Amino acid sequence: MGKILIFGHKNPDTDSITSSIVLANLERALGKDAEACRLGKINKETEYVLNYLGIEAPRLLEDVEDGQEVMLVDHASNKESIDNLENSTILKIVDHHKVALNTAYPLYYRAEPVGCTETILYKLYQENGVEIDKKIATLMLSAIISDTLLFKSPTCTKEDVEIANQLAQIAGIDCNTYGLEMLKAGTDLSEFSIEEILNLDAKEIDLKSVKSIIAQVNTASIDDVMKMKMDLEAGMQKTISEKGLDLFMLLITDIVNSNSQTIALGKRVDLVEKTYGVTLENNTALLKGVVSRKKQVVPVLTENA
Ligand code: MG
Ligand code: MG
Ligand code: MG
Repeated sequence: MGKILIFGHKNPDTDSITSSIVLANLERALGKDAEACRLGKINKETEYVLNYLGIEAPRLLEDVEDGQEVMLVDHASNKESIDNLENSTILKIVDHHKVALNTAYPLYYRAEPVGCTETILYKLYQENGVEIDKKIATLMLSAIISDTLLFKSPTCTKEDVEIANQLAQIAGIDCNTYGLEMLKAGTDLSEFSIEEILNLDAKEIDLKSVKSIIAQVNTASIDDVMKMKMDLEAGMQKTISEKGLDLFMLLITDIVNSNSQTIALGKRVDLVEKTYGVTLENNTALLKGVVSRKKQVVPVLTENA
């Protein structure tokens, strides 16, 4: 077989991109022929990280050939993966999400309930005695900061913080200064169309039988993003019709104050109101203290669905 292709989820975030690069580097160090790939456009935050290090984005992968050997990072779900994943052979998964994938064959599966895939990859480097150089450390650290919103997200564990501190030492980086600048870079939406903004970090999720998209956009100013509310709603409505969704929930997450303003549309917005005890006014409400889709949105909505 040729090269093993390694990629994260669609609408890639910093964890998906950097973990692909970092795992590919580990596999190569262990003698495998591996290449990091990506399933979508690089966001502004990830662009900041890659520019900081002066490295190129992984190759964009449109589909995989029959029998292609792959490794998945930062996701374990068909819906979030490459369209024809079922044609490939998954050798390995390293992830920190719920298990949402079945294979007919055995594979290496490493999942831990930590804040970031890179935290697990750090341990894999240690376990395999592979050196973490400055560049790899910076990639790992960037993703941990991104996924945990500078350690403020409820998904952040003690282990994420400890490992991030180790990595900051190797990288010679001050977490707060670098992290804030990186997160801020990710809030620059000026180059994106409404459709792209809604897609930047969107996940298609079935909340039991409620067909949903939950999208998230980080900002330093909720008001700035809310200026686009009419256009965002039009875009969301279009997607609801096209995909036959029951719910489209957009989270506009204030990375400074750790709150999210939500805009919710669709016939099941009652789920949002019931779950958070809020009344949507003009389709919107402030969800105090909510920053994590994985921990504070998906499980609670699923429970109430
Ligand atoms: Mg991710
Ligand atoms: Mg992640
Ligand atoms: Mg995320």
